[in-house]
Amino acid sequence: MNPSRLKPAPGEIGAEQVSVLLPLPLPGPYDYRLPEGVAARRGLLVEAPLGARTQLGVVWGVGDAKIAAHKLKTAVPLGSRACLPVALCDFVDWVAHYTLSPQGSVLALALRARGAFEADAPRLAYRRAPVTPARPTDKRQRVLEVMADGLARSVAAIAEEANVTPAIVRALVAAGALVPEALPEFAPLPLPQPDYAAPHLRGEQSRAADDLRQAVGAGTFSVSLLDGVTGSGKTETYFEAVAEALRLGRQVLILLPEIALSVQFLERFAARFGTPPAEWHSDLGQKQRKHVYRAVLTGDARVVVGARSALFLPFQDLGLIIVDEEHEQAYKQEEGVIYHARDMAVVRGRISSAAVVLVSATPSLESYVNAKSGRYRWLRLVARHGLARLPQIDLIDLRQHRPERGHWMSPVLLEALRTTLAEKEQALLFLNRRGYAPLTLCAQCGHKLTCHQCSAWLVEHRYHHRLVCHHCGQDMPMPSACPHCGAAESLIACGPGVERLAEEFVQHFPGAHMAIASSDTMHGPAELQSAISAMSRGEIEVLIGTQMIAKGHHFPNLTLVGVIDADLGSADGDIRVRERTFQLLHQVSGRAGRASKPGRVLVQTHSPDDGVLRAVAAADRDVFYDQERQLRQRTHAPPFGRLAALILSGPDGDAVRAIGKRLAQDAPAARGVRIWGPTPAFYQILRGRTRERLLVQAERSVDVQAYLRQWLAPFKLPASVRLVIDIDPVSFF
Ligand code: ADP
Ligand code: ZN
Repeated sequence: MNPSRLKPAPGEIGAEQVSVLLPLPLPGPYDYRLPEGVAARRGLLVEAPLGARTQLGVVWGVGDAKIAAHKLKTAVPLGSRACLPVALCDFVDWVAHYTLSPQGSVLALALRARGAFEADAPRLAYRRAPVTPARPTDKRQRVLEVMADGLARSVAAIAEEANVTPAIVRALVAAGALVPEALPEFAPLPLPQPDYAAPHLRGEQSRAADDLRQAVGAGTFSVSLLDGVTGSGKTETYFEAVAEALRLGRQVLILLPEIALSVQFLERFAARFGTPPAEWHSDLGQKQRKHVYRAVLTGDARVVVGARSALFLPFQDLGLIIVDEEHEQAYKQEEGVIYHARDMAVVRGRISSAAVVLVSATPSLESYVNAKSGRYRWLRLVARHGLARLPQIDLIDLRQHRPERGHWMSPVLLEALRTTLAEKEQALLFLNRRGYAPLTLCAQCGHKLTCHQCSAWLVEHRYHHRLVCHHCGQDMPMPSACPHCGAAESLIACGPGVERLAEEFVQHFPGAHMAIASSDTMHGPAELQSAISAMSRGEIEVLIGTQMIAKGHHFPNLTLVGVIDADLGSADGDIRVRERTFQLLHQVSGRAGRASKPGRVLVQTHSPDDGVLRAVAAADRDVFYDQERQLRQRTHAPPFGRLAALILSGPDGDAVRAIGKRLAQDAPAARGVRIWGPTPAFYQILRGRTRERLLVQAERSVDVQAYLRQWLAPFKLPASVRLVIDIDPVSFF
């Protein structure tokens, strides 16, 4: 296939053999013929016969000349002759090549809107006719009065407004007093106004905004890192880049890590631009998806705010991509096509000649290194907006300041909470563990309750009286006796989760209003959103939550942040643990003191001498980053070397291990490439499948994809073993 031979100009190629990519996990495109007189062009959407049915597909390139045309089936363009933009097709190819995924699986990501290409389903509406019926009844007269304004309405809307039955309306239609008219299926999206409510930017903000406007105005690919402390006005600043793209008539994509939490963001956008943006994420209904997808394709949707999958929308003229909180791990898609949305956003920007802006207070080490080396423009905001100052951060040594037995808050933290509540200010308690307790064990026999299908502890959720596996989601009622030795009433909860912390809080402060905010399916996104809104409105004083509340939120009256356990989280061989701990603690600290009142952060730990924690407390970000950069450089870790993980899994542990060994033996020797493993994965068993990992570590100059292709191509996997390739892995479980 050679896409460059396919000229996008219609009529160039005529009815000819084309390769058509189907959104299915097949090895590549299939050849078809186009009907006489149809101009082949890359991106043209077709109905392609496949076995007994037809399948939506996309003309991808010229077909294989060696196949006789009459042997091919005919792919028929959709009635609308709709086309995916060539830039999107190129992007699909790029992602497939980079992630070693089937092209069709990546294309499927770009076609996730059922019915988007079907003919419009117009809404039938009625307007008043010029003629008036003689002597109408009272009810008919009411209808005519409602319709006197000349606007078109549906029968149901007319009936409701005139307070008559639909039959009365239809009788007027039959009499010719109301005439039908077809309205488009969807009302047009309102246009965001670049100058609706522009803020007054202060010095460094305004310089950064100028740079960003200039990058957008250049109309070429560029990457900027907008690197500003929490509360410095990064959002206000990048909104100026959005405004510039709007003025130039180009489309904008704003990627956010947790779209479920974006109500505040949408309101903020509307306050700045006069109308909310289009949204794209997994919670959208089918009709909304169809609407947004189409509006992006026609160019009507000018600004889309979305989760990572929005990268695959059919933008016609993308001028700007913002990746907010670019360091977030949520940008990594870990299932199906495994890709990192931040990295792919940069690729998308290059293909579309768009400006890309990465935004963070704690950039990923990759972006930091790129900014420092001058590959990215580096725009820094070092001061908080207005009177706000960065908070005072103190490490609390839990060995000295012990909490009561079975409790988790130290006397120092309790005292600070007391003061905060007395001052009528708000506090946030951060604990990155969902549920009540992360481990339940039997006091008689020591048995730990684990999931049947996963090598993971079951987490107690006391509110629902259940034990839940956080990996496969399986749950069961809390047993009354130990399932191992049968001892009654012997099960004890070990360690804290947010529910248990909330219980402890209530014991100490029975009168205070608090809420739990965690990503838990047990509580649900609506409950989470309402907890956050209640905090914004000051209806609660204390928010207890997991990392869901660490980022983005702006609570002006929040002056105290308590980090319950800073020692959480360390997985063997995970090169990013230090970076992640730093980012999370820095972000959560950044929630304190964002308005005029000063903030204080108390970080509870058993190892106050730890380098990462000392850097958090000293708020000495660049010292930390530079140390981390040197460490990675010494160990040839990303971004100074490349990593790819191979994860084998299957129901038969011996088969999985045997394949792992054979893979390692067969790995071709190559300069600058090392293979580690196979070793059992951190969670050796998940959902009943045994897991083994191999890690490929390569020097930067190595084409890892080519190496993997050469290695894996001759390899035949038994049907029972699955191989997942994770390029640039960020999680190591
Ligand atoms: P960041 O994204 O860097 O954490 P935000 O953009 O959320 O910071 O800004 C923090 C707060 O300061 C917000 O309430 C924002 O509206 C306000 N703010 C920042 N810059 C300005 C400005 N130039 N004029 C008015 N308000 C501003
Ligand atoms: Zn499980």
